[in-house]
Amino acid sequence: VGVLVDPVRRLDNFIRLWQEGYTGFVRAMELLEEEPDIADRPGARPLGQVAGAIGFRNVGFRYEAEGPRVLDGISFDIAPGSFIALVGPSGVGKSTLCSLIPRFYDVLSGSVTLDGQDVRDVTLASLRRNVGVVQQDVYLFSGTVAQNLRYGRPGASEDAVVAAAKAANAHDFIMALPQGYDTDIGQRGVKLSGGQKQRLTIARAFLKDPPVLIFDEATSALDNDSERAVQQALPGLARGRTMLVIAHRLSTIRHADRILVLTRDGIVEDGTHAALLGKGGVYAGLHGMHGRI
Ligand code: ADP
Ligand code: MG
Repeated sequence: VGVLVDPVRRLDNFIRLWQEGYTGFVRAMELLEEEPDIADRPGARPLGQVAGAIGFRNVGFRYEAEGPRVLDGISFDIAPGSFIALVGPSGVGKSTLCSLIPRFYDVLSGSVTLDGQDVRDVTLASLRRNVGVVQQDVYLFSGTVAQNLRYGRPGASEDAVVAAAKAANAHDFIMALPQGYDTDIGQRGVKLSGGQKQRLTIARAFLKDPPVLIFDEATSALDNDSERAVQQALPGLARGRTMLVIAHRLSTIRHADRILVLTRDGIVEDGTHAALLGKGGVYAGLHGMHGRI
């Protein structure tokens, strides 16, 4: 889903189309995903199902030609199947870094690889089938529950939809809706609570089932039920895939195999929670009150 970084100038258009319901939503998503500079290179190859190894090799990036460098000299490797927490102060480029993996933007220098292949050398469609993104904002359109869940895997069977909803703890509340999975949600449909919407976006990620999942955790406090939905789902979501979470909560970070600490100076620390705490460096210092970073 190409909505990790959405240029503000397109947001108005996006919201207008979104309000038109399903058709508008699909067009709005296309609009967001359509980066004028990002296209298949001549001879781009389709990427099969990847194992999920991610590599950043001396990556530099800026949004505008004359603008400031947002990322500079970023290098790290993530092993397939690992759960990585990316932490750091606001504005250092965590979301930007993650947006380079599904190629919402291209690097200025260096390279980003998936299973050793430069993401610029493979087709966008095949790349994005392999990389899922769950954002802090909940993107639901005015269609049925099932239509909302199938975004990202349009041909999914009914069984697969139900299994994903169960994995996200969404099945029971969906069955309690007037028409179950065929209930219309949105303006003229039923209203859902924050926690219910959160569960639907998580179910969507389960259904897409990508080898690489990027989860941009909400910075602001979620209501208790949304918070619970995310925390209950994270271990299951992480199973069998590479998971990169931009994390703000200790409860999330504790699940991580490794923590990458990003500051204006780049990736300054890399290790487990215990190791980084023991080090008494940046991570230990970031450690805020109330279990949040
Ligand atoms: P983080 O996720 O760590 O809070 P971001 O990746 O969102 O940081 O932003 C890093 C820097 O890039 C910030 O200075 C931000 O203002 C800038 N930035 C983010 N998105 C855009 C964009 N679409 N166009 C221009 N600058 C951007
Ligand atoms: Mg961010």
